[in-house]
Amino acid sequence: MADKRDYYEVLGVEKTASQDDIKKAYRKLAKKYHPDMNPGDKEAEAKFKEASEAYGVLSDETKRKQYDQFGHAAFDGAAGGAGGFNYQNMNVDDILRGFGFGDIFGDLFGGMGGRSSGFGGRSQAYNGPMKGRNVGTTVRIAFEEAVFGCEKQVEISYKEECESCHGTGAKPGTSPETCPTCGGSGQVVRQRQSLFGVMREVGVCNECGGSGKVVKEKCPTCRGNGYKNTKKKISVTIPAGIDSGQSIRIAGMGEPGTNGGSRGDLLVEVIVARHPIFMRDGMNLFSTASITFTEAALGGDVKIKTIDGDVLFPIKAGTQTDTKIRLKGKGVPSLRDPSKRGDQYTTLVVKVPERMNSKQKEALKKFDEVMYPKK
Ligand SMILES: [Zn+2]
Ligand SMILES: [Zn+2]
Repeated sequence: MADKRDYYEVLGVEKTASQDDIKKAYRKLAKKYHPDMNPGDKEAEAKFKEASEAYGVLSDETKRKQYDQFGHAAFDGAAGGAGGFNYQNMNVDDILRGFGFGDIFGDLFGGMGGRSSGFGGRSQAYNGPMKGRNVGTTVRIAFEEAVFGCEKQVEISYKEECESCHGTGAKPGTSPETCPTCGGSGQVVRQRQSLFGVMREVGVCNECGGSGKVVKEKCPTCRGNGYKNTKKKISVTIPAGIDSGQSIRIAGMGEPGTNGGSRGDLLVEVIVARHPIFMRDGMNLFSTASITFTEAALGGDVKIKTIDGDVLFPIKAGTQTDTKIRLKGKGVPSLRDPSKRGDQYTTLVVKVPERMNSKQKEALKKFDEVMYPKK
């Protein structure tokens, strides 16, 4: 292959180009010459292969170094064999599949609808370890529990690894085999008629669900799914200051991962009950408190309910109804810094007696005569 074009020239980048530039340049060319966009165009296909080959080398720092040192000779003789780059003899899907091009094609085709199920970042992960799904649950707590924090038992449905097959789903003594439909890649190529002609769509293999492995004889204990469903009670620490609708993440309590991937997380959404006295807005609490006419008129310490219990609050003589008072630090602690607390705002309402006995009425009349003598 003496007349091979220089890889940098193919991609149209400088010898000093960064990986980012190389990736960008390749994406541009791949988009332009991709066979799906140029059905039946042999020249475009050749250009696509040429660009892919260049990218295959330059995107790999080791291969790039070899290429920089020895040029195409670095890979001569290896053509067609393992590690070779004889792309001209390969078909496009092999090129796409063979290299970790999944991420590069992710958003390239994302908007076209063609490969939506195929070359996402996921295409690489079908075979590799994949983290399990997150699961959600809710827990209801009292108003005070949200303010001060608490410990709650939550029952979750938990997938425990099957003891008989250790999660493989295969009958003890047997092991999962390579999926014959996809050859273990976890993906299949489907042909589909589209605006651009026949589109090749890469999707998850239905046979193995993308794992690349199939179980011939299923484990009788778990019926092949590798896990047994159990109910599990776990203790959840709910921090002081949590508000309704916020969630706590507990790592590793979600669905099991696949192919050795870690478990997903458990998200516990907290629902906080209402309080008969207090309304909450962020870190502040709001309430209404009644005081007697005498207290309002004479002033002095009045008893005010707070989330910490009753406190005495000094009011001025002649306090009017609807006066708002602020009790500093009697609100809700900050989630980030529990040493900081919000405030309580209380509206004082002067309560007029609804029923009075004759003695009380007499006293009030006397008060009136003294208070308003000219009437
Ligand atoms: Zn089993
Ligand atoms: Zn398969």
